[in-house]
Amino acid sequence: HGKIINSKYILFEDYLIKSIREDYIIEEELKKGLKSNQLKIYLQPKYNFSDLSLNGAEALIRWNHPSKGFMSPEKFIPVAERTGLIIDIGRFVFEQVCKFLYECKVNELCVYPIAINFSLPELYQSDFIDYLDKTMKKYAISGEMIEIEITESTIISDISAINNIIFQLKNYGIKVSMDDFGTGYSSLNHLKIIPIDCLKLDKSFIDTVEKDNNSKNIIKIIIDLAKSLNLKTVAEGIETKDQVELLKKLGCDCAQGYYFAKPMPLSDYKKMLFKLK
Ligand code: C2E
Ligand code: CA
Ligand code: CA
Ligand code: CA
Repeated sequence: HGKIINSKYILFEDYLIKSIREDYIIEEELKKGLKSNQLKIYLQPKYNFSDLSLNGAEALIRWNHPSKGFMSPEKFIPVAERTGLIIDIGRFVFEQVCKFLYECKVNELCVYPIAINFSLPELYQSDFIDYLDKTMKKYAISGEMIEIEITESTIISDISAINNIIFQLKNYGIKVSMDDFGTGYSSLNHLKIIPIDCLKLDKSFIDTVEKDNNSKNIIKIIIDLAKSLNLKTVAEGIETKDQVELLKKLGCDCAQGYYFAKPMPLSDYKKMLFKLK
């Protein structure tokens, strides 16, 4: 009996050591990757359900690893969050987006807002607002061109601190969305205390909305709730025409998903804007 417990313990220890080592390797390689241009920003368009006009885009990071090839952000963002490197990644994305928006303005393109993903620990950085301010000034960007998507990957422990930051963002005209709404730690309770502008309905609900009545009911309730609180809703991960029709009928404001467009390089998105000119 003792032996079994012992071997289980050793297995767990092996696993722990292995995963710590993996984190460490990814962290070191990510640091190098950030310095040597291996990370790129892609943009995925968002559309208004009402007339299917462009509403803006979400910035999504891509890592082309020199030997391992394409690595999904689902894999390296959690590592970056554990190791603190997420701060550098977030700032890299923010600067690239501001630079891109500046180029759009120079080319006299219609400028639609671009959303950037931040995790909670990034917002709590004492110089977070200063950094945004400095970078927006550098590229002559106003807050209306920027949106911020927050994922509640951890429990919000300090509501007043987070509120303070969101109010400051609002003063710049930056809109704030709660990402992956309905999953993780995002809670209904937060809606009444945190001054957000928009809810992003998680893809897992959208995936099953056609077949599963429960999903459909949950989405309907979230959309109605959002309306009553004056919040906009975005459905992410839309892949079919049926999903488009259903979500439009339920009163969702914006659509994002492969059905409309996959995340694309900045150059392709810029071409799209040129066509709209
Ligand atoms: P997210 O913020 O929920 O982003 C949406 C994810 O769904 C993206 O995956 C997007 O490519 C994918 N997606 C959009 N439409 C569809 C669809 O119709 N079908 C399918 N199958 N997928 C769709 P991606 O780019 O792999 O990013 C995964 C997650 O990694 C993001 O989830 C976000 O949490 C995180 N992430 C990505 N870029 C950044 C970043 O710059 N900073 C931070 N902090 N996190 C990021
Ligand atoms: Ca997001
Ligand atoms: Ca999301
Ligand atoms: Ca997600």
